[in-house]
Amino acid sequence: MRYYGILFVLGFTGALSAKPAIFERTLLLMGSRFDLTVVAEGADAGARYLEEAVLEIQRIERLISSWDVNSQTSAINQAAGVHPVKVDPELFALIQRTVGLSRLTDGAFDITYASMDRLWRYDGSMKALPSAEDIQESVARVGFQKMVLDAAEMTVFLPTTGMKIGFGAIGKGYAADRARSKLQTMGVSAGIINASGDLTAWGQQPDGTDWLVAITNPLNKAKAFAWLPVDGRAVVTSGNYEKFVRFNGTRYAHIIDPRTGYPSTGLISVTIFAPKAELADALATAVFVMGVRTGIDFINQLPAVDVVIVDEANKVHTSEGINLQTTVQHD
Ligand code: ADP
Ligand code: MG
Repeated sequence: MRYYGILFVLGFTGALSAKPAIFERTLLLMGSRFDLTVVAEGADAGARYLEEAVLEIQRIERLISSWDVNSQTSAINQAAGVHPVKVDPELFALIQRTVGLSRLTDGAFDITYASMDRLWRYDGSMKALPSAEDIQESVARVGFQKMVLDAAEMTVFLPTTGMKIGFGAIGKGYAADRARSKLQTMGVSAGIINASGDLTAWGQQPDGTDWLVAITNPLNKAKAFAWLPVDGRAVVTSGNYEKFVRFNGTRYAHIIDPRTGYPSTGLISVTIFAPKAELADALATAVFVMGVRTGIDFINQLPAVDVVIVDEANKVHTSEGINLQTTVQHD
């Protein structure tokens, strides 16, 4: 799970005595590397803010983790086909939004995809492609349309046994958004929450310049092909280069098309710019499934959302709002 995001931030690390200055902390949360950056006046304030961000991310992890058998998310999965489960308003609202995102992407992102994780494993233990029957069976268990949400009772019900929800494609984005709003509420004027390439930034660097993100090709991470300003938006990349399996010359990514049961092929990375990391995270996963043409057409219809795609042939494709020609080129 641990890997470096495709994006990294060109940060100006000011001298610690300067005020305001940048304070950073890197740690493993939700099974991923998180790089937290805040602008604060003094080391004490900086450390306090970073600690609050960590606590907020840990709180979200306890709510949405499918590995933690005691999480409310696990309770929903364990009760699939049996009974509805009452959850916190926060989790209910998150699930409502993920169902909305599943609908918006026409099921390319599907919050109930999780039962497919059993068939496709990216830990080196897969020796052959799953059988067509097994794939069919896994597709039959997926379908956000089947979820039953009761807003009055605040319950979530998965009607068939074996059906599962999972936040693998959206949890890091949601956590990044929440950590950011927590810090903004505390008065932190600028910062970056980078969850392994799921990134949200606000404010400006202490020298008054914008935060920039590097767009790199995962095959050559050392060299960025473009730097873009984050301008208060979130930037999220899907495409964990380490997570794939190869059979008969085809590279199968860890993002699965819930409608066919097969992993998407042909793309190396999808980077989405959007107002919120949660939205960007779901859309990055969805565009990975949609592929270049459908993905770009889809993103061009959404206001304030842009995409940069790198395909297997190393070709870069962008939506209408991205102009790589005008960006600064670094080596
Ligand atoms: P990355 O891991 O590269 O950041 P994503 O944010 O797209 O990429 O998350 C991928 C994870 O999401 C997978 O490991 C899996 O747990 C889950 N997932 C895979 N395919 C889908 C899908 N079509 N819809 C929802 N979740 C998915
Ligand atoms: Mg995602």
